[in-house]
Amino acid sequence: SLSERLGSTLRDLRGKGRLSDADIDATAREIRIALLEADVALPVVRQFINRVKERAKGAEVSQALNPAQQVVKIVNEELVGILGGETRRLNLAKEPPTVIMLAGLQGAGKTTLAGKLARWLKGQGHTPLLVACDLQRPNAVNQLQIVGERAGVPTFAPHPGATGSGELPQGPGDPVGVARDGIAHARDKQYDVVVVDTAGRLGVDEELMRQASDIRTAVQPDEVLFVVDAMIGQDAVATAEAFRDGVGFTGVVLTKLDGDARGGAALSVREVTGQPILFASNGEKLEDFDVFHPDRMSSRILGMGDLLTLIEQAEQYFDAEQSAAAAQKISSGELSLEDFLQQMLQLRKMGPIGNILNMLPGANQGQMKAALDQVDDRQIDRLQAIIRSMTPAERDDPKVINASRRVRIANGSGTTVSDVNDLVNRFFEARKMMKQMAGQFGLGGGGRSAT
Ligand code: GDP
Ligand code: MG
Repeated sequence: SLSERLGSTLRDLRGKGRLSDADIDATAREIRIALLEADVALPVVRQFINRVKERAKGAEVSQALNPAQQVVKIVNEELVGILGGETRRLNLAKEPPTVIMLAGLQGAGKTTLAGKLARWLKGQGHTPLLVACDLQRPNAVNQLQIVGERAGVPTFAPHPGATGSGELPQGPGDPVGVARDGIAHARDKQYDVVVVDTAGRLGVDEELMRQASDIRTAVQPDEVLFVVDAMIGQDAVATAEAFRDGVGFTGVVLTKLDGDARGGAALSVREVTGQPILFASNGEKLEDFDVFHPDRMSSRILGMGDLLTLIEQAEQYFDAEQSAAAAQKISSGELSLEDFLQQMLQLRKMGPIGNILNMLPGANQGQMKAALDQVDDRQIDRLQAIIRSMTPAERDDPKVINASRRVRIANGSGTTVSDVNDLVNRFFEARKMMKQMAGQFGLGGGGRSAT
């Protein structure tokens, strides 16, 4: 596995300077193989690896992770970022009905998805309507009606022999007319979301694209979801490009993730089209469906869930170790400015400080609130700049910081002497207060040991 290969390639080299080019290259080679094995398209792999290398070159060596783990962490973060970071939500129309059109090759899972979406939307309190615009396959309308019934959602279908608005009197029927009529029906009966199922072909073909594109033009959907089978692997790029150019889409749904595909299609489609992945399907049943989770997908593509868990734990453990050491120092009144800074930075890792503090009980009222509003991230940046401009001896024992040192520190950090005074005075106060509190709460001596 990738985890094993990485383990044997690299030695442990924690906490020293920057990641070396050799470390980065060795890890990048293994990641490249993992991505190709996951069926990510080659040009996408190349681009991606280059970006990761750039980022890794600037990164300082972590205290908690070895170089391979650290590169993997960067890869994972990049991957999660590309796959969508926070999942994008469905675009809803300001004025209902919201129209969601499904497009994709035959067998991709559109009709099944229509049922899944309908069920899911209903669960969210919507009143969906399915519209059957696949008039190509003899049984397609009936198939949609069946999934609709299972989801408890009605299906708008052309009457047998009907031809929609009558613009195309010949042939198997007029999907554009059915789409239009379906949406009019939804407006009339106050369904608030319409899911339009369309026809697909086994391969990309012009007539299919024209039909889908005509439906899009006629009904102006709020979302066009490109439905793609995760098992098609390398073909995903060409198919996605064809649909992007022929119909255009605003989001992607990956299906058949219950199979053994590693899901490289996700990264390829995302990179090539720039459109977000909104949902994932992982089975034939209506409930085998979820909003897309970039982090799960990333770990699947890399095929190293274990390693990612390990990395997370190593970092948490390291933080715990640091915190325990700091608690010890607090209770004995030996906290240095460096410890103080590390604590602030750790706190910030959890998110904007104001948010965290606001979650504390009672934090929203009066005095507390006023005090909290003063602590913002910019302040921590300034604090960091000031402390970084001090010598280790000054950080260790701020008592030595005399007037001329204060001027030097202020200049070095781009702040004023009064900022430096402020910080030093507040640090002494905080240290005193923390020592008292630590005594009160029995922190420090006898506490949990992290080693
Ligand atoms: P369409 O041609 O795009 O409408 O595709 P269908 O919805 O008819 O699905 C084609 C086949 O794939 C059907 O047999 C579905 O049951 C199956 N299918 C759809 N989604 C999934 C999925 O997420 N996992 C699995 N295993 N099968 C699926
Ligand atoms: Mg279908």
